[in-house]
Amino acid sequence: MKILVLNSGSSSIKYQVLHMPAGEIVAKGLVESIGEAVGRITQNSSGEKSSRSTHIPDHGGGLRLVIQLLTEGENAPLKTIQEIEAVGHRVVHGGEKFSNPALINDEVIAAVSAFSALAPLHNPPNLLGIEVAKQLMPTVPQVAVFDTAFHQTMPQAAYRYALPTDLYEDFGVRRYGFHGTSHRYVAEQAAILLKKPAEKTNLITCHLGNGASMTAVKNGKSIDTTLGFTPLEGLVMGTRCGDIDPAIVPFIARKRNLDLDAVELLLNKKSGLLGLSGVSNDVRKLMELSENGHENALLAIEVFTYRVRRYIGAFLAVIGAPTDAIVFTAGIGEHCAKVRAMALQNLEHLGVKIDKQANEEHKTIISLPSSTVKVMVIPTNEELAI
Ligand code: ADP
Repeated sequence: MKILVLNSGSSSIKYQVLHMPAGEIVAKGLVESIGEAVGRITQNSSGEKSSRSTHIPDHGGGLRLVIQLLTEGENAPLKTIQEIEAVGHRVVHGGEKFSNPALINDEVIAAVSAFSALAPLHNPPNLLGIEVAKQLMPTVPQVAVFDTAFHQTMPQAAYRYALPTDLYEDFGVRRYGFHGTSHRYVAEQAAILLKKPAEKTNLITCHLGNGASMTAVKNGKSIDTTLGFTPLEGLVMGTRCGDIDPAIVPFIARKRNLDLDAVELLLNKKSGLLGLSGVSNDVRKLMELSENGHENALLAIEVFTYRVRRYIGAFLAVIGAPTDAIVFTAGIGEHCAKVRAMALQNLEHLGVKIDKQANEEHKTIISLPSSTVKVMVIPTNEELAI
């Protein structure tokens, strides 16, 4: 069975065609700069790259191009688009309604649309992707897979903020958490490696990419996570600040004479690793600079890894039972041994003992046999999970 997975952003569509159940990638690609003068599609299939640059007016035009590249020419990955038997859509926000993927119907579309108020940058383009896929493939079942769904098992004590209750009741102001598809996927993979049933596994999963979050998984379920009402809370991210004292918001608005939109932009786009280092949000670049004596690049990495360690401590306490493993995933988590080593330093008294060489070599298990909490590196695969 061939499945098309779509991740529709405001001006882009990421896609993969997967042959299930093996999970083999038939083709993957990216449509970029939708709505701009010149857009672009690039596709990779069996090692063969193809690309096209042209004006792509909207998401409908983008998906039409995807279908063209998938089906046109002698070596096209598909003979016809009818080979696609289902479409999986990444949807960022499922509010309190969805704790599992949902077969898309009018009710699901209405709910995703209602949650646009909670994820104004993400849900509207996700919906566009759903609408154009329904138009172009009307008979194919479509499924929405929500970034928030895995975290719907959090208890109230973890998801409520200490704000007046009417803000929760009237507007849904609470912690939702994101990256759920990735946390769920690596948690399931970790359970397989641990040879334990997922529902008996306690883990701390660390998704460290440009966006970053950690989840406390108890008995296979998310019981706490670092991202909150929006994907701004918690860890330091590429350009997002993570946890700050909320009083800083009105303070900088007044000091810099900024309106709320400008402050929001500053917290989302100019902060994090970029804000701290003053040069880059890319950890590879920051590592190189810090090795050459760039103090602010080093500081950015120190604040980033300190925050990870802080949440490891918090989540070991929150799980409140022996934790089987700490799992690292996503761009930084999978590829940066130095970040893992810095985040995990001085945790021996909590049973976390790193195997330096295994860590340097990005082995799957990077803890010593004597470590009571195992440490793992597991590549995430959100498309496969979808
Ligand atoms: P996104 O959230 O955009 O999907 P990724 O999961 O791809 O992000 O992670 C991007 C981050 O991973 C960047 O900060 C990048 O510097 C970092 N990264 C990727 N490869 C490496 C590497 N080999 N060493 C250090 N950092 C890396």
